[in-house]
Amino acid sequence: MNFTPIFNTQKRPILIAGPCSAETEEQVLTTARQLRSLQDLGVAQVDLFRAGIWKPRTRPGAFEGVGVTGLPWLQRVQEETGMKVTTEVATGQHVNECLKFGIDVLWIGARTTVNPFSVQEIADAMSGSDIPVMVKNPVNPDYKLWVGAIERLYKAGLRRISAVHRGFSTYGDSKYRNVPRWQMGIDLMQEFPDLELICDISHICGRRDILAETAQKAYDLNFGGLMVEVHPEPDQAWSDASQQITPARFAEMVGALVQRHSTSEDPDFQERIENFRQQIDEYDEEILNLIAQRMQLVREIGYVKKDKNVAIFQPERWRALAEACRLRAEKGDLSREFIIMFLEAIHQEGISQQERIMNDAVDESVLTGDFWKND
Ligand code: PEP
Ligand code: MN
Repeated sequence: MNFTPIFNTQKRPILIAGPCSAETEEQVLTTARQLRSLQDLGVAQVDLFRAGIWKPRTRPGAFEGVGVTGLPWLQRVQEETGMKVTTEVATGQHVNECLKFGIDVLWIGARTTVNPFSVQEIADAMSGSDIPVMVKNPVNPDYKLWVGAIERLYKAGLRRISAVHRGFSTYGDSKYRNVPRWQMGIDLMQEFPDLELICDISHICGRRDILAETAQKAYDLNFGGLMVEVHPEPDQAWSDASQQITPARFAEMVGALVQRHSTSEDPDFQERIENFRQQIDEYDEEILNLIAQRMQLVREIGYVKKDKNVAIFQPERWRALAEACRLRAEKGDLSREFIIMFLEAIHQEGISQQERIMNDAVDESVLTGDFWKND
């Protein structure tokens, strides 16, 4: 796939800002005017004004958006401020309404990206229109589903496509509303270098106090831009109140961000990085060799368990490992989340290796490691 950038500007990162929902004409216009004035003051240039008209809410009874009534409000934003505007579409009908009203860019929300029927319906409605479209990641961390949605639009003839990383639903404690799982964004950037990837920090964070650090993280990871929910009176917002910020705070946050270059041609920089990378490569090799040795022992245990017909998963043992992780995390040089994830991955691999031993005919090559080479 070859994409055409939605934003025909040399300016990077791109800034998309505006309220979660269009509530009233006045609220939409006030936000837009305040954002536009940041440009006049030379503080921050917003490339695209966002406001949700149709709101996919998790629970019924919450504010579900003003619907088509809000489309002329967005037109007024275009006329008065010259800013381009975007809103979320979830059905073919939404697309048709937006096309009628000359909305500049559309976006597909996380709850829609999960559903290939909906995405196909949207792609069909957009077909032939050359409308730019941004595809948010699905609510669940399914990389293929995200790419699949982009492919459906591409197959419908659309080229001006961007992606938006807005994090993934989680159950249980997390400092984020939607955990970022940055690697998925990084993978997308690597697979599709000309696909612009915007970071929606508001839906990742779900709260104001960690927005700035998350925005900086997105800049550090070389994201193409930010989407930020901005409201003149955030606490009064009809949806997502706890994550919205005022235009003034938005300007302050953007002004404090440090922009990174994608790379540097400086030979000293190149040499130093190269040196570190060589050492890192050596460590990686050592780590993998050690893990392979560890797996060798795991396989031996597999044989002993098989011999005595003992279950593979031993909760006691796993609890002891988890406790060891907790103690190791106290050192502070590796996060507890990382240690747990790392050991879980190793443990999982150990279980599947033992499963093969339990279920396969005895094959001594298992003990030498040759057995796994054909996987
Ligand atoms: C939104 O942008 O307001 C929204 C509903 O986002 P998401 O689809 O990422 O939840
Ligand atoms: Mn929102």
